[in-house]
Amino acid sequence: MTDSGPTLFWHRRDLRTVDNRGLEAASEYGQVIPVVVVDPAVQTYAGPARRGFYHASLASLQQTYRTLGTDLEIRQGDPRTALPELAAETEADRVVWNTDYSKLATKRDGTVRDRLPEEVSTLEISDMTLYEPGSILTSAGDHYSVFSYYYKKWIDRDVPAPAPQPSPEVFSDRQARDIDEIQASPVDSLPLPAGRQAAEDRMERFLDGPIYEYAETRDLPAADGTSRLSQDLAFGLLGIRELRNAVDEADATAPTETAIDSVEEYRRQLAWRDFYIQVLDAHPETVTENFKDFEHPIEWRADPAAFRAWTQGETGYPIVDAGMRQLQAESFMHNRLRMIVASFLTKDLQIDWREGYAWFRKQLLDHETANDVGGWQWAASTGTDAQPYFRIFNPMTQGERHDPDAEYIKTYVPELQNVDPETIHSWPDVDTDRRDELAPDYPDPIVDHAERREQTIEMFERARGG
Ligand SMILES: Cc1cc2nc3c(=O)[nH]c(=O)nc-3n(C[C@H](O)[C@H](O)[C@H](O)COP(=O)(O)OP(=O)(O)OC[C@H]3O[C@@H](n4cnc5c(N)ncnc54)[C@H](O)[C@@H]3O)c2cc1C
Repeated sequence: MTDSGPTLFWHRRDLRTVDNRGLEAASEYGQVIPVVVVDPAVQTYAGPARRGFYHASLASLQQTYRTLGTDLEIRQGDPRTALPELAAETEADRVVWNTDYSKLATKRDGTVRDRLPEEVSTLEISDMTLYEPGSILTSAGDHYSVFSYYYKKWIDRDVPAPAPQPSPEVFSDRQARDIDEIQASPVDSLPLPAGRQAAEDRMERFLDGPIYEYAETRDLPAADGTSRLSQDLAFGLLGIRELRNAVDEADATAPTETAIDSVEEYRRQLAWRDFYIQVLDAHPETVTENFKDFEHPIEWRADPAAFRAWTQGETGYPIVDAGMRQLQAESFMHNRLRMIVASFLTKDLQIDWREGYAWFRKQLLDHETANDVGGWQWAASTGTDAQPYFRIFNPMTQGERHDPDAEYIKTYVPELQNVDPETIHSWPDVDTDRRDELAPDYPDPIVDHAERREQTIEMFERARGG
């Protein structure tokens, strides 16, 4: 112990005590006071599901600290004011936090640093990714913008061990106000159980079996074959090192070669997350700007009616509508569907990816700036390693390939309940009278895919200066 004052550990997107590198670092200085600042400004970006999940996860974190004989200090307000006040009130010597790479967070954290009393030092730790952004670079010393090259290096690295939970003795015995007294946000009914234990349960369930079939099932939305851990990683209920180590253990006990390939496929997805976070770190402007340079602005359409139809799942394209309705119902959408609906918005409706991103940011429980922007810019052909602009998803063949029995579609689009899969997958080509007869309450297709496809290729060629 080197100093007399306590260390504040500021939890942000790391709502856990296990495998928390910043918390581990804070505990090396002596007495720790864990703190969260609920920022109403940040909360406005989140819909009720995400706010409720956050609230419940904070309650679970507070409970964990109470079992460790301490408490979680929860403040509400702007961290740029709340943290300097708390540091002064507790006579803290330092404030420690884990790095958040979004522009908004980086700017805010800089102001917190500037406003803390002069004698209070700060320490930022890299925790969110397996390998710190900027630690895997091209031979020219740049961040990677091509995933496959990045992955080759990522997979070759030693896997860091999870950080241990600090021993209870390091924590201050302060008591704090209960989260429910603070009423940071009402807990609405949640699409998934929140908190650390629920996240651990989800991880165990997936690693206990489904991971071995992941390669076959991950692209079939009706199969429920993915891990459903994205919100747990986004809120930091799970540490990336603990997840990666657990995945490697599953690899060691994989029963077949196919199962080993599936585990490998799953690891690749975790690498995508690291990849997009390092892109965001290097190019924070890509939250609002295209990653790729275009000679002329892309002539996106202003079409509020089409945008509304897309958000409501009423485009008349069954697979698109199913995805958008899953999002509304569950605050989640399967990855294949995210790609399909993002392609549809940008290539069929020719609406700017930023409008789609803003909708996803509000609706998704697992919203994570780097992944969300990365996914949108990929689909819009404006991003790193993006879908080429001339390769445009056909929503009919996507439906046929990934939901052959239309099981997923029928779950979310009950108007098509009695229609056979073949007809569903060719819905826009079905005669209008026949469509009215089969599903009188389901909307007609709002655009012609083939026509829009040609227009979109021309739109991109003009933007490229062709
Ligand atoms: C337009 C669009 C927007 C997206 N927005 C988000 C978002 O806000 N938050 C988010 O976590 N993911 C986002 N993704 C990526 C992906 O769709 C989700 O991570 C995935 O569907 C979450 O389900 P899961 O945990 O069951 O995934 P699994 O298939 O089980 O994957 C395991 C984990 O790997 C990571 N991962 C998987 N796919 C990707 C990917 N393509 N890019 C980066 N990381 C990935 C996630 O952390 C995920 O939890 C987006 C993709 C697209 C195309």
